[in-house]
Amino acid sequence: MANLTRDFFIALSNNELLNESAKKWGFRLGAEQFVGGVNVDEAITSVKELNNKGISCTVDNLGEFVTEKSESTAAKEKILLLIEKIHSEQVDCHVSVKLTQLGLDIDEAFCLANMQEIVDAASQYNIFINIDTEDYLHYEQTMRVLDALLEDYSNVGTVIQTYFFQAEDDVDRLSDVRLRIVKGAYKESPEVAYQTKEEIDANFLKIVKKRLKGDAFTSIATHDHNIINEVKRFVEIEGIDKSTFEFQMLYGFRIDMQESLAKEGYLFCTYVPFGDDWYGYFMRRLAERPQNLNLIIKDKLYTENNKLKTAPKVVVGTIATVTALTYLCSRKKK
Ligand SMILES: Cc1cc2nc3c(=O)[nH]c(=O)nc-3n(C[C@H](O)[C@H](O)[C@H](O)COP(=O)(O)OP(=O)(O)OC[C@H]3O[C@@H](n4cnc5c(N)ncnc54)[C@H](O)[C@@H]3O)c2cc1C
Repeated sequence: MANLTRDFFIALSNNELLNESAKKWGFRLGAEQFVGGVNVDEAITSVKELNNKGISCTVDNLGEFVTEKSESTAAKEKILLLIEKIHSEQVDCHVSVKLTQLGLDIDEAFCLANMQEIVDAASQYNIFINIDTEDYLHYEQTMRVLDALLEDYSNVGTVIQTYFFQAEDDVDRLSDVRLRIVKGAYKESPEVAYQTKEEIDANFLKIVKKRLKGDAFTSIATHDHNIINEVKRFVEIEGIDKSTFEFQMLYGFRIDMQESLAKEGYLFCTYVPFGDDWYGYFMRRLAERPQNLNLIIKDKLYTENNKLKTAPKVVVGTIATVTALTYLCSRKKK
């Protein structure tokens, strides 16, 4: 059942018509709870709020699977502006990017040129650029672009998804590169990826422990308290310096835990997505944890004192419309 729900939301995340509709009609459906702003200035404001709580950030300009060069160029310009703002506002923050937003599906050389410009601009200010990893179809190309950038720059790294069988080999190959370790957010085939939570969690912990014993900085990105507790125990027993790793979580998730980890003296970094292209990102969050929908409905319908907000009809209407659209789109696909 859990897998069915996951498949449902992953399928929705890939639905172009719904994505376009969401952007066009502004169905935010509570997504703003997980999005740090619509533009660069709003994102920087969110970063400042988190910095004031002792939390560092990585900011992501939402958008992926772009097919027009002009769109990729516009995304690159926005990221360059973000880098300038991070520097001029002196916030504690780095940048996460998705290569399919920067032209990977159009032309790998074009994407690499965009990335060179971004990583080069960031290197002038000592700002780190993280390349988020997407689905398996783009994995090899992503690693090629990373390798090309690493020839000239040291302020770039990527993400290893521990559901992939090859994750450990890639971690070994990139042992001197700053990496984020995650479980993986896309639906992948049993030929390339573990399918059960037990296997994925076990590989996650194995890889994180290996990294923590190595020299390069590691971001441990998970909302899973069992994994976080196990990592805390491990670093304590092994005497691992807290400055060699950080925990990461997504904006708006487990806020209490984010703040308490920072207060306990662990380095903590929040992933702050911004922009209006939130649909695919948001649907993957629902695929991971359908209960996230409860949080949103509660947030939309009720005040902090559990009183019904004044215009629930609008919310119910929006949800009903999207459900209807979803149904129509799924029929269309068949
Ligand atoms: C900062 C960051 C960056 C990421 N970057 C990428 C990337 O580049 N590529 C990629 O493929 N994926 C990325 N991901 C997504 C990642 O791969 C997982 O899909 C996602 O984090 C869900 O796995 P999990 O380890 O957080 O917890 P899960 O395995 O989803 O949950 C484990 C358990 O944790 C608890 N839990 C989880 N979430 C909550 C919550 N919100 N509230 C209460 N309890 C909760 C529940 O008990 C749950 O059963 C990223 C995730 C983070 C946090």
